[in-house]
Amino acid sequence: MQRVVVVGSGDGGTFTANVLASELHDEIKGGLASVQLIGEHLHHPFQPGNLDIAFKGAVPDKYVKEETELIRKEIEFVQDPAVKIDFKAKSVTTKSGRVLSYDYLVIATGAVADPSRIQGLAQGSLNFHTGGVNSRRIWDALQEFEGGTVVVAIAGTPHKCPPSPNEAAFMLDEFFQKKGIRDKVKIKFLTPYPRPYPAERISHVVEPMFQEKGIEVTTFFNVDSVDPAQRKIYSLEGEAVDYDLLIAIPPHHGADVVVNSGIGDQEGYVPTDKGTMKVVGQEGVYCIGDATNISVSKSGVVAHLQSVVVARNIVAEMKRSKELLEYNGRINCPMEVGHHKAIFVSATYASPPVDQTPSRVKYYMKRSFAMIYWRALNGSLERIFDVFFGQTRFPVTEEGPEKVAAAPDASGQGGRRDA
Ligand SMILES: Cc1cc2nc3c(=O)[nH]c(=O)nc-3n(C[C@H](O)[C@H](O)[C@H](O)COP(=O)(O)OP(=O)(O)OC[C@H]3O[C@@H](n4cnc5c(N)ncnc54)[C@H](O)[C@@H]3O)c2cc1C
Repeated sequence: MQRVVVVGSGDGGTFTANVLASELHDEIKGGLASVQLIGEHLHHPFQPGNLDIAFKGAVPDKYVKEETELIRKEIEFVQDPAVKIDFKAKSVTTKSGRVLSYDYLVIATGAVADPSRIQGLAQGSLNFHTGGVNSRRIWDALQEFEGGTVVVAIAGTPHKCPPSPNEAAFMLDEFFQKKGIRDKVKIKFLTPYPRPYPAERISHVVEPMFQEKGIEVTTFFNVDSVDPAQRKIYSLEGEAVDYDLLIAIPPHHGADVVVNSGIGDQEGYVPTDKGTMKVVGQEGVYCIGDATNISVSKSGVVAHLQSVVVARNIVAEMKRSKELLEYNGRINCPMEVGHHKAIFVSATYASPPVDQTPSRVKYYMKRSFAMIYWRALNGSLERIFDVFFGQTRFPVTEEGPEKVAAAPDASGQGGRRDA
């Protein structure tokens, strides 16, 4: 019996388990293989929906489904958080004390947005990175807001969905225009990067649009603390900015189980090979999506494309095939820029993001993703994705095809390991 355990039932973990279950259908039926998926929650959120909840008033329930609706029947869903991953014993222990042994392990525990890491941030700001209910608090605050300064601040990198802070600023501009009080509202954008979007080519698009819309940018602003009583946000560089409403992107870190098992780096991310997605120094152990330490965007598209590589490689190893694959660093993050237009931040390890023209087509493509996400999790859209994304996986070679010319970073955030 070959046992695969997947830890984390979010975007990457659910899709990996489904691909494995599909490819190993006969083996699972014949008692030769098993796929167990460990999850914390029964509810599975579509996280990009948080932007709509915060800035367009969508109800949080619209973007949630039950995990059991999303997985194939061959999978055993273990709704019991993992508390220890033990590479030596090849086992995962859950909160209730169950010990699941594995031959292959996939770590897909994501990243945690954590406002408590900065003094005053949890009390002084709202955010759309810690779930639908907290996102809805932004919408409620916007209903009551009649004028003043709204600050959007990036309070830590890397964070999920690199374009999301810029999207927030664009969506605020649109919201206040529609409410008829744009002239009474200052929108300020605080970023630790040297430009409004970290990747230079994308910043070329964003910067003039921010200027045109009167969104004020402060660069090199590394958030130090927030004083909720005085409504001030301070930078490490000694600047202070006043706000009436603060919307912050909290610092992120890896999942507790990674930290507590001693298998992560300083920020709790798992050291992972950027091509094979194997955990460094381990055989049969893989990591995907937001949980890895590699320099690609923390995004669902990335988790999805890496899942295919990992699932296929596990099946190939089980079947002793030599056809192993590598992920080429493809990212494809949409950025809504307001008034029914969007751009896509696209890159691979070998090719940085290129200039973009905002368009309605890209906007509707972004919005359609909310509808197709649930189907994408069961693998039924892979042919369409293959056409849209092009080739994203290549046979493993000594160097790897895209590694040869690899740019240092495909985060879409511009050559920083932490972006
Ligand atoms: C506001 C916002 C907008 C976004 N927009 C986009 C977008 O437009 N396009 C895009 O591609 N991506 C977008 N993303 C990012 C995307 O949602 C994530 O990058 C993606 O979900 C990552 O997938 P993952 O599987 O790595 O992690 P997740 O989907 O976060 O899943 C991790 C799972 O692990 C579970 N877990 C953690 N610890 C344990 C444990 N101890 N035991 C068991 N389970 C555990 C968690 O409960 C969770 O279910 C956005 C995110 C946000 C917040």
